Amino acid sequence: MNSFCRGLSVLFALLVVLSVTQHALAQAQPTKPNLVLILSDDQGYADVGFNGCKDIPTPNLDRIAKEGARITNGYVTYPVCGPSRAGMMTGRYQDRFGFTTNPAINPNDARCGLPLTEKNIAELLKPAGYTSMIVGKWHLGTHPTLRPLKRGFDEFYGFLSGGHDYFPENLKLEDLSEVKKSFDWYRTKLLRNEKRVATDDYLTDELSDAGVDFIKRRHKDGPFFLYMAYNAPHGPLQATKKYLDRFPDLQGKRKIYAAMVSAMDDGVGRILDTLDELELAENTIVVFLSDNGGATNNASRNWPFRGHKGKLFEGGVRVPFAIRWTGTIPADQKYNKPVSSMDIAATIVAHARAKVDPGKPLDGVDLLPYLTGKNTKAPHPVLYWRMEPKDELAIRKEGMKVILSDKGGPFMFNLWDDFAEKKNLYATKPEKFEALKAEVEAWSKDFPGPAFPALKDWP
Ligand code: CA
Repeated sequence: MNSFCRGLSVLFALLVVLSVTQHALAQAQPTKPNLVLILSDDQGYADVGFNGCKDIPTPNLDRIAKEGARITNGYVTYPVCGPSRAGMMTGRYQDRFGFTTNPAINPNDARCGLPLTEKNIAELLKPAGYTSMIVGKWHLGTHPTLRPLKRGFDEFYGFLSGGHDYFPENLKLEDLSEVKKSFDWYRTKLLRNEKRVATDDYLTDELSDAGVDFIKRRHKDGPFFLYMAYNAPHGPLQATKKYLDRFPDLQGKRKIYAAMVSAMDDGVGRILDTLDELELAENTIVVFLSDNGGATNNASRNWPFRGHKGKLFEGGVRVPFAIRWTGTIPADQKYNKPVSSMDIAATIVAHARAKVDPGKPLDGVDLLPYLTGKNTKAPHPVLYWRMEPKDELAIRKEGMKVILSDKGGPFMFNLWDDFAEKKNLYATKPEKFEALKAEVEAWSKDFPGPAFPALKDWP
């Protein structure tokens, strides 16, 4: 064999080794999981069967908990819609980028929403090969530069503002530019991508249809992220006869609220059934949570907690929360250590092998080691909250929680003994209180002020 032939055979051997190695690597890489993130709006902790609700059956939400983990200490990062979504969708405390309150629903102001300097889950997943859709409520900006299709989503079906009417006959406005006064934005026609469309179904059914349709159409395109941002059971309290008739023993607001939750639960059931039919359950992470505690105006219940939407008591920030990853997260478990909504982004990013800007690390953590028992520590030794407009702060460290508030506060509670936050310990354990106060003040001291005008500022 001359040297040229020897060279060729060495090259050939190298190519074979390379190709075998690449094949083995491809085999060793686990499939990237899909993510179905189901968010309800202003639903109380006690308003799901898996947290003990008796008067509103939620068999499909319960299925997520039963087939996965029921998170008993699941928290959002803020007790109202907009900032809570900003924290969840970026995996970062929204105070880091000035999302300190609900933004003004002003389509002419490019500041009012999630700053372009931050990446949401869809933007993080896109370079990793994901196809994403948001169905329902966006609430992270109405300016053309801030809308879902500019923020990593391939598809959008829903509305941009913080709430919406449910009956199609009420949706008269062609666009946000027709809004003359606050809450008129509840009556815009829905957007399919960038186009306004007429609808004929009860909104919750309309949204469920769109979610099922997305999974059926796109699941073969590679991994997907479906963000089901239901506005149920946020006001206005509106439900159809089909769902109201399920609750003959309930009256008034609670009856309508129950019907709204039940309609959403039906939709969740259809989404879970679709995953089953397409044999996607084992490769799909399904998360359910509410964006904040139950509100005072929708007949929700946050039992056994104190407070509600808008408060830093447990009733405002501790929400119904469950996560399922069939075959990966052990089923039927109750997980009691504190978990954050920010962990959803961190978990999918880890398993999608997506890249995060090292200058903007996530505050969330990958939950998988915790939910599979590989890591028995707490995912979050400390959690923080800040309500900048009210000058309120809170910290939970292990079981101790401090709330710095002028309204009857300050407070300190031992949540392991007193999850209902009845016994204020701040005066009886001053050293502990001062240490936690200093810790949360240090956490918040360098955050920027509000990045945009607030909801009340426009129109
Ligand atoms: Ca909400």
